[in-house]
Amino acid sequence: MEGIGPSPAKVNVLGVAVDKLTLNEALQRVEAFLKEDRLHLIVTANPEIIMLARQDEQFAKILEQADLVTADGIGLVIGARILGEDLPERVTGIDLSSGIFRLAREKGWSFYLLGAAPGVAEAAAAQLVDKYPGLKITGWNHGYFQDSEPILREIEARRPDILLVALGMGRQEKWVWEHGHRLPVKLAIGVGGSLDVYAGRVQRAPELFQRLGLEWLYRLVRQPSRLGRMLVLPVFLWKVLKAAIF
Ligand code: UDP
Repeated sequence: MEGIGPSPAKVNVLGVAVDKLTLNEALQRVEAFLKEDRLHLIVTANPEIIMLARQDEQFAKILEQADLVTADGIGLVIGARILGEDLPERVTGIDLSSGIFRLAREKGWSFYLLGAAPGVAEAAAAQLVDKYPGLKITGWNHGYFQDSEPILREIEARRPDILLVALGMGRQEKWVWEHGHRLPVKLAIGVGGSLDVYAGRVQRAPELFQRLGLEWLYRLVRQPSRLGRMLVLPVFLWKVLKAAIF
């Protein structure tokens, strides 16, 4: 993996090939994916995901085979810059899914929402239909299930075009990979905590924080329990520096 050479369209960040594109370009890729009759996976990557891929071979393989890996997280943009590469901008799960919702009304795409605590996906669906009138959400399920079978059956019956999976990083991509052969969708995206934001349970950082690349700090202050997982950030930057120097 570490040997993937940088190509014009991808940046190799510690062995993970991250697509070099803007939000608008990512949305164009989504439109192309929806025209093909097969499952596509989008991973919105951040330094935690890169570090997880370095320890978890299965996850690394999934990232390698994903149809699009976007740079969610300012750490990744900075890391790429240290490596001498420019990622044009952050493409977060929430911005990407919002862009897809806007396009979906015109294109007629339908959705299934999977993940978050009981009640959240349902509340997110209600808020989304309110915000994007006419949006087709065919079903939802919370993310604290033991048995995937009833969910797979429901998705098979409802045949949504797009599946948003919010089970947390790693878990959500593995769920899609494991059950891909049963998923009649054209696109699955791991969206982390986005359903909590759409449902209004968690506030997204104000624009100023987003623009300054400090969204992570806002989230950390609001949810101090995130500190443990954020400790990988200095390790990530250290490894990037080492890779840039040697
Ligand atoms: N979650 C879930 N099932 C689980 C563990 C987590 O549905 O077994 C949900 C959780 O409720 C939250 C989302 O996954 O809505 C993860 O949010 P987080 O902001 O931690 O996203 P990450 O940064 O891990 O992608």
